[in-house]
Amino acid sequence: MQAPVKTPMPEQDPAARQGNFDEVALGYTPEQAAAEASRCLLCAAKPCAAGCPVGVDIPAFIKKLALGDTDGALGIIREANALPAICGRVCPQETQCEALCVRGKKGESVAVGRLERYCADRGTVGLPKPSPIGLRAAVVGSGPAGLACAWELACGGADVTLYEAFHVCGGVLAYGIPPFRLPRAVTEREVALLRAMGVKIVTDFVVGRTKTVDGLLDGLHHAVFIGAGAGLPSFLGVPGEGFAGVYSANELLTRVNLMRAAEPGADTPVLDFGKAVVIGGGNVAIDAARVAKRLGAESVTVAYRRGRAEMPARLEEIHHAEEEGVEFRFLTAPVEITGDGEHRVTGIVCEEMRLGEPDASGRRRPEPVPHSRFTMECDIVVSAIGTSPNPLIGQATPDLQHDKYGCIVTDPATGRTSKKGVWAGGDISTGAATVILAMGAGKRAALSMLEDYRSRGS
Ligand SMILES: Cc1cc2nc3c(=O)[nH]c(=O)nc-3n(C[C@H](O)[C@H](O)[C@H](O)COP(=O)(O)OP(=O)(O)OC[C@H]3O[C@@H](n4cnc5c(N)ncnc54)[C@H](O)[C@@H]3O)c2cc1C
Ligand code: SF4
Repeated sequence: MQAPVKTPMPEQDPAARQGNFDEVALGYTPEQAAAEASRCLLCAAKPCAAGCPVGVDIPAFIKKLALGDTDGALGIIREANALPAICGRVCPQETQCEALCVRGKKGESVAVGRLERYCADRGTVGLPKPSPIGLRAAVVGSGPAGLACAWELACGGADVTLYEAFHVCGGVLAYGIPPFRLPRAVTEREVALLRAMGVKIVTDFVVGRTKTVDGLLDGLHHAVFIGAGAGLPSFLGVPGEGFAGVYSANELLTRVNLMRAAEPGADTPVLDFGKAVVIGGGNVAIDAARVAKRLGAESVTVAYRRGRAEMPARLEEIHHAEEEGVEFRFLTAPVEITGDGEHRVTGIVCEEMRLGEPDASGRRRPEPVPHSRFTMECDIVVSAIGTSPNPLIGQATPDLQHDKYGCIVTDPATGRTSKKGVWAGGDISTGAATVILAMGAGKRAALSMLEDYRSRGS
């Protein structure tokens, strides 16, 4: 009889991992992968595949894996997914493919993500060898949307140049998600495959400044895909937000992940963490809290204005954070940050909340409980309450239609924008979402760009 629960993932011990940035989840052994693959019922209707935004044929790859053919399994995955080692680690499978798994009706679903990771880490496949079709395409931004778009375009025979504002490729995969969840080498390995497919990567290139979108189209490229993400942090809007010791999660994570702030003598250090309070309830808040722990914080509290059940962060990440000693304070919202005579943070005044009627998002709206204010002493406040698209490209491209949130308006099926020759997708058109949704958008846009070029016969 098959086990009703997933084969557990080997992990670094919580006490040890608080002091390092090494990966927490260690990956299945061949025996564990075989045991987990054998739990799959190989359902003919493939309900799990319907939950995958890039359409991986899940039972087909698990069948190969169960037969011991890891390379064959990876080949099936890569037909649909350009970044399997990344998705296997960070995709919220529990709300996508695994949520629809038949095994989940009586027990736990098959651990599709862990198996995908296993294949990507252990398997090898040759690269496609497309014939050039003449299309010269520009991809702006090297996050999952841009990487997936560039991969699909290159597989279709296009000549692709990827322009990235940072000095490093990967978008949030490089500057946001910490290496203990997604090691840098994993992203670099996937980017190396893009280079091997002939994609030219130009870093330190800010579209809108170094060159405009019109400049990219002017004789250089036939088509442009914009995958510039939503990296502009939202602020709390409370008094004291300018004090030393207040960070946006994006700033903190970028300093640590890209600028080596955790290393002694770093050029872009962070302050001594002491007691830290992180505001928010998503993956970003949890990542910031776990990074604060690893920076040596004496205590880390995540304050979230809704309840545990409403937290958008992945359950697995919340569980890992708790194991590492991160504390949670639910139904708590900030009112003011207090500081000393030198404008350094000394604490945060919060108020208790209760949940009222559902709001536009369908979640119950938090409302302040009268006379419930209290103060938490702290040295550091990290704000992780959301992000929006950077307005730079919009300002430099006035004929590109944006919505009231600053997102580029696209046709969701094709990624086409209001501007001829320009496609867009990922967080820049949806607002902050997920890796796999960004990848799906990048892939659909690439297919539309290829189709458009072919249909013009040029
Ligand atoms: C800390 C954190 C943790 C997360 N954890 C998860 C998770 O566990 N699972 C999950 O599915 N999702 C997670 N997400 C969300 C996910 O990472 C994003 O939805 C996804 O990265 C969006 O992809 P993207 O390609 O649209 O944008 P991004 O990843 O933001 O990439 C955009 C790229 O464009 C570049 N760029 C911006 N402007 C310009 C310009 N003008 N010129 C050139 N380049 C430009 C940026 O430098 C960046 O490299 C997390 C997000 C954060 C911040
Ligand atoms: S639904 Fe679950 S059991 Fe069925 S094929 Fe998909 S992963 Fe396997």
